[in-house]
Amino acid sequence: MQAFTGQELSSKKVSYLKYIYMRGDLVKTTEIAARFDVAPSTVTKALGEIAKAGYIEHTPYHGVKLTPLGTEYARFLVRRHRIVALVLSHFGLTPEEACSEAEKIEQSFSKDLVDRICRSLGHPIMSVCGEIEHDHGCCSAGGHPV
Ligand SMILES: [Zn+2]
Ligand SMILES: [Zn+2]
Repeated sequence: MQAFTGQELSSKKVSYLKYIYMRGDLVKTTEIAARFDVAPSTVTKALGEIAKAGYIEHTPYHGVKLTPLGTEYARFLVRRHRIVALVLSHFGLTPEEACSEAEKIEQSFSKDLVDRICRSLGHPIMSVCGEIEHDHGCCSAGGHPV
């Protein structure tokens, strides 16, 4: 499978994208605005930029949904978050602390780094805040099949 090579988004947009992914359906701009407590116009602008990067499609009056590329990216984002949170939990942080600290630093972990951590941990199934899904990119590369 082609590993994700698209453009990285800012952390705010990453949060929106992860949210859209978790919701798994058409999501309205107003819902995202309410969830993140920001102005709808701010969300509309950010979603426009995410759409331009090819990760979501916007259906007027109905909301946004992920494109296949966006789904792949969001899956990576969730895996990255959970891998980073799992690593942090090994340093005496509670699950809640590991989860929120991960949100602050996960942006600086490249796909290659996340995949290498994933492999070195033996592709863990569970993190502190949910299951970790492994794609072919992390689980088969480097001669370390599960
Ligand atoms: Zn978390
Ligand atoms: Zn993996």
